[in-house]
Amino acid sequence: MLKLIDGKALSAKLRSGIKEEVAEIKAKGITPGLAVILVGDDPASQVYVRNKEKACIEAGMHSEVYRLPEETTEEELLARIDKLNKDDNIHGILVQLPVPKHIDEDKVIDAISVEKDVDGFSPANVGALLIGKEAFEPCTPRGCIELIKTTGVEITGKKAVVIGRSNIVGKPIAIMLLRENATVTICHSRTKDLKKEVRDADIVVAAIGKAGFITADMIKPGAVVIDVGINRMENGKLTGDVDQNALKEMDFDCYLTPVPGGVGPMTITMLMRNTLVSAKRKLK
Ligand code: NAD
Repeated sequence: MLKLIDGKALSAKLRSGIKEEVAEIKAKGITPGLAVILVGDDPASQVYVRNKEKACIEAGMHSEVYRLPEETTEEELLARIDKLNKDDNIHGILVQLPVPKHIDEDKVIDAISVEKDVDGFSPANVGALLIGKEAFEPCTPRGCIELIKTTGVEITGKKAVVIGRSNIVGKPIAIMLLRENATVTICHSRTKDLKKEVRDADIVVAAIGKAGFITADMIKPGAVVIDVGINRMENGKLTGDVDQNALKEMDFDCYLTPVPGGVGPMTITMLMRNTLVSAKRKLK
């Protein structure tokens, strides 16, 4: 039987804990503050930014959102980041990606102070993660680990297969699974026999961006499947990289995160957690 991992419920539970901690730190004089910058009017990015803003406000955090026009220059964006780096009311800065083509994404990520890089994308944070030092862990990958843990399935010693090798999802998830003592394989568009690799996996993380790409016959009975993909169908609905309907028909047990309601809410929750952690450092 297919067991859905409820990312919404896990998020709600974690967010209520975060809200309590926010109240505690506020009583000590610090309000955790997150600044989000959105350049341009990509509809999906607008939704993500709105959801992040809403979640922060609900948790009692201070939220600042800068919606900048598409034609914003790189210099203007970097100047805005510089201001926020110096702003004591802001503990986390996030630039919603992708940025328009005329802006160098690497420069933007580099400009965010490492102490406020709550998205965990800066080379310093990624490097720290890689060598096992304290770092802001990227939110989507961290959310995936929490979702796996909520099943009660032990990660240590398991074979984990990550499909996708992007800097923001695939690679950091692979590093985190390694840190959790899984035996990790990273698959990508040039992998020779993807089906064989995935079929062997106890833990599957699909971060591809292709609707229904991971079919039920690729899944090993008992596997934990984390579907990171967000794909918009012609009817406007969102769907993941895993063919959930086909998996439902299989006569074996496995876990799956639904889309929507799986990884998505956890990404925002982990962003809130990182912002809280950053604010708490100011107490010390
Ligand atoms: P990306 O386009 O940067 O990377 C996609 C990866 O898929 C690449 O590494 C590529 O090698 C791999 N790939 C492509 N075709 C393949 C094939 N035929 N076989 C095997 N591998 C193949 O995308 P991304 O930024 O890593 O995002 C991946 C998906 O996750 C997207 O759908 C994105 O919308 C979603 N996403 C969701 C969240 C969330 O919060 N839920 C956050 C970030 C990204």
